[in-house]
Amino acid sequence: MSLSDARPSGTPPFWEPGTQVMWRYGDPSLPHWATPMTVVRDDEDALVAWLAAGTPTLKVGRADGLGRHEDRDRMFTAERVQLTGTWDDYDVLRVAPTGRPWSVWAFFPAGEATFEGWYVNLEDPHVRDADTTYSKDHVLDVWVEPDRTHSRKDEDELVLAVEQGRYSPAEAARITAVADEVEAVIRAWGPPFCDGWETFRPDPSWPVPQLP
Ligand code: MG
Repeated sequence: MSLSDARPSGTPPFWEPGTQVMWRYGDPSLPHWATPMTVVRDDEDALVAWLAAGTPTLKVGRADGLGRHEDRDRMFTAERVQLTGTWDDYDVLRVAPTGRPWSVWAFFPAGEATFEGWYVNLEDPHVRDADTTYSKDHVLDVWVEPDRTHSRKDEDELVLAVEQGRYSPAEAARITAVADEVEAVIRAWGPPFCDGWETFRPDPSWPVPQLP
């Protein structure tokens, strides 16, 4: 598990459907976010993977024990600790288009086929090693309703991220430009939105993955 020998995603060898992989956000040598997931499809175009409700996760907490929305003046500067948790309430299909600085997450209430919408997570293009795909979250997100209406999430946190030195104003402007790009894809209803993933159902024989 190391970023140093990771390679860009989108070239073989690809993971077979049903393979368990780790999907990590952040430097794996530091407190970071990670979920074990089951590969649905992996090819030149994208990595598609399933996150089942009930899956154990790695998550990031504050060393002072405060919650994410407390003490917002130190949201991006407070000391972090590694925590574990469980991904609850929703099953999620994630699509990471090759080389793009965003991934698209289709939300379904746990165990149900009712599609509730798309969450577009702005992030680094993925790289991978033998069993992990790596990215880094970019704070700003876009939510897309099933009727294709969309809205940005956490624009206020991107402002805080600049104020607290996580991003320069130029970096924040590039992230905002990516949100513009995502919204253009949504308006054109390009991939992966047009690919039919909102009717996807997982193989019922897949176990709920465990942390490695
Ligand atoms: Mg995000």
